[in-house]
Formats: sequence, structure tokens, C-alpha cells
Amino acid sequence: MTATTTILRQHLIDPEICIRCNTCEESCPVNAISHDSRNYVVDAAKCKYCYNCISPCPTGAIDNWRHVKAETPYALAEQLLWDTLPEQLAIEESQPTGADSPAAALPDDVERIAAASTSGQGGVAPPPWSAAHPYVNLYSIQKPAVATVSGNFRLTAGDASSDIRHIVLDFGNASFPVLEGQTVGILAPGLDAHGKPHHVRLYSVASPRDGERPGYNNLSLTVKRVTSDHEGAAVRGVASNFLCDLKKGDKVDVVGPYGTSFLMPNHPGSNLLMICTGTGSAPMRAMTERRRRKSVPKEDGKLMLFFGARTAAELPYFGPLTRLPKEFIDIHLAFSRVPKQPRQYVQDLIRARGADVAALLRDENTYLYLCGLKGMEKGVDEAFSEVCGRHGLDWKTLHAQLLQQGRYHVETY
Ligand code: NAP
Repeated sequence: MTATTTILRQHLIDPEICIRCNTCEESCPVNAISHDSRNYVVDAAKCKYCYNCISPCPTGAIDNWRHVKAETPYALAEQLLWDTLPEQLAIEESQPTGADSPAAALPDDVERIAAASTSGQGGVAPPPWSAAHPYVNLYSIQKPAVATVSGNFRLTAGDASSDIRHIVLDFGNASFPVLEGQTVGILAPGLDAHGKPHHVRLYSVASPRDGERPGYNNLSLTVKRVTSDHEGAAVRGVASNFLCDLKKGDKVDVVGPYGTSFLMPNHPGSNLLMICTGTGSAPMRAMTERRRRKSVPKEDGKLMLFFGARTAAELPYFGPLTRLPKEFIDIHLAFSRVPKQPRQYVQDLIRARGADVAALLRDENTYLYLCGLKGMEKGVDEAFSEVCGRHGLDWKTLHAQLLQQGRYHVETY
């Protein structure tokens, strides 16, 4: 039998960025952080992964991790001599961190949902090379951030069959940094039918990194009230109904943030090809808003959006979307249930705009994002394959390259 190695996710502090302000040492409840005149260091034997030290750090030096063999973590004496952090070493014969290890990081619910949402692309892809550093898991189920509802607006028309809401959460003095494409977990109050707390529900952040309102410590979510299951049977969605019923001033327990892959590139000239259905538009809104606010026309790459909904009345953000200038974003809306009109889906419009889609696919600076209903993955894949075939590209090869280069990101449920 092959011997396996237990891997530890060791918490480290980057000596290059650390400004030696002592906030981490003050916030550590188990005295795992100490310092000398040169460096701040973390004792692997004491760290309990409570993350109390992460959000107070003003520079992000605290948020560094390396996978090491559990029996040989970096010692304190070693860390005290560092000028820079060591590179991540390749570790062979590894097994995931065992239950006895303190490195069990994300809640089970979050791991399960993340695995399901990315299964179509074969697991989590690397992030775009120029993406900003995401913070994850700053607030746990045991210690959630408490946000205050500062807005809850119905996005869908009054007579639309679905109730989709734009919900704004304010974090007050708590630090809850997010990037476009990340998700947050909502803890609905109460207990389930088995007397246990409800599972964490994940929602994509719909606002850009600097807040729903720039400079405010808030973020927004796009939430559809769930009243039936995939087969159409009546079901009351616990978290969605809780969120959709919230009033201004109500409090919400929020965990996370999560997500280290579905992130936008930051380098000039990068193109975003975004495909979504329904509330899968949330991360696309965040990315589009980020671009709109930070737009440097000479440096900006292209934005192309394919967005599917039943009707215009059911399409979240329909009004604001249609008002965006054509030269800023190339938008294609597919409506599937407009009376007396043929059903149209995002994949139909990808085919119709094949030449422009192929031109984007040829560009090494293009990043693809797919978010929404799981069912659309297959149709979109077939549409890309057809478009590539028509324009001298091999989708199978390109798809593998896109995944490997962190340029294809899928989040579907
Ligand atoms: P929906 O209203 O049921 O459907 C939106 C559109 O997608 C409709 O036009 C629908 O057509 C079409 N569609 C259905 N199957 C399709 C397929 N196989 N290929 C292409 N288009 C298809 O959508 P929704 O209820 O808002 O669902 C959005 C999904 O996004 C949910 O699964 C949600 O979990 C997920 N999501 C949400 C968030 C968030 O933050 N809220 C984030 C990520 C993902 P028909 O008229 O034929 O049904």
C-alpha cells in the first residue's frame, strides 16, 4: 500500500507587505501570532483557523497560505528570518487534509454547492492571471457577519410570474471585501424539518468590489423567490423567501465570501464574453458595473453579453441594461416565452453572432463566463463547437486551453 502524506494548509504572513501594526497578534485568541524586531509569524501548532486575524489586517499580508506536509510545517525560527514568502512547493503522494487537521476550511455546504456548480467544466479552473486577490471564508457559520438590509427592490414587472429582487446589504463597520464573481452565504434563521439549522445558501454578488454604492460598505444580491422545484411542484425556498421578504433595517447573517476562480481579469485589453440566464446575471452585472465605473476607453477590451429570460418583464436589470451604450457593451437578449414569437435561447444568439464570437474566441485576452441554469451548459457548448467549426477553430482544443489558462468559468445550478 502506498503511504500517503497529510497536507496542512499553513497560515503565513507575508513579510514584504506586513506593516507590523500588530492587529493580527492582538486579534488572535490562541496566541498563535508573535513577532520579533523583524517579522510577524504564525505558529502552525497553535493556529485554530478561526480567521479572526484576517479582516483587521490593513494590507492583506495576513492572508497567505501554503500547503505543506503536516509533520514539517515552516517553523517559527525559519519564518522570523524571511524577507519574502517561500513559493508553494510541489507535494507528492498527497491526500486531502484529514478531519483531524485544523485546515478543514470551507463549510461542507459550500464545498458541495461549489463542486456541483463547476462540475460541467470538470472542477474549479484557475482564476484569470491578472485577477485581484480574493479574500475567502472571513466569516464562518459560527461567527457570521451581521448585515443590515438597506434596500429590497422588485426587479421584475408587477405582472411577471417571477418575483426577482435586488437586495442591498450594508456591513456597517465590519470588513467584508468581495470581488466581482464571488459568492456570499446566507444563513436563514430557524430550523429545518429535522430540527437542524438550515443549510447555507450561496448567492453571487451583483455589485462591484467598491460596493453597490461606490465607497459604501455594502453589496447587492439578485434573488428569485423560489415557489416551485425544477419539476414545477410547489415548494417554498427557505433562503430566497426569507431574503425576498426582508424589510429595510432587518438583520441578516452572512458568511463567506467564497470563490477564488470565477473572477474578472484586471489587465488592459481583456475581453469578457458573458452568457447567463435569469438570476445568473448577478456576477455579470457586477463585472459590467466594475468596467463601467473604471472604464478607461483606450485600454478597455470588449464586453459581449448573451442573456436569456422568459420575457423582457422577467429579465432582471432589463431597463439599465438596455440603456448602456452600444460601444461599451454588445448585448443580446434571448426571450423564450414571448407570446406569438418563436422561443429563443442564448445558444441561438451565439450561433447568430458566430463571426463576432469567433473573433473574440481567437483573442488570447478573452475570458468566458457562464452562469445560470445548468441545462444551458450543453446548448452553449454545442453552439461554441458549431461556431468554431464554421470559422476554422477547434472547440475541443480551445476549450481545454481556456480552462487550463483560467479563461473559462462556469457556475450553473
Ligand atoms: P428561468 O427564469 O427559469 O430561465 C431563464 C431563461 O433560461 C428562460 O428563458 C429559460 O427558458 C432559459 N432556459 C431554460 N433551460 C435552458 C437551457 N437548457 N438552455 C438555455 N436556456 C435555458 O431562470 P432562473 O429561475 O432565474 O434560474 C437562474 C439560475 O441561475 C438558477 O438555477 C439559479 O440557481 C442560478 N444562479 C443564480 C445566482 C444568484 O446569485 N441568484 C447565481 C448563479 C446562478 P424556458 O422558458 O424554456 O424555461
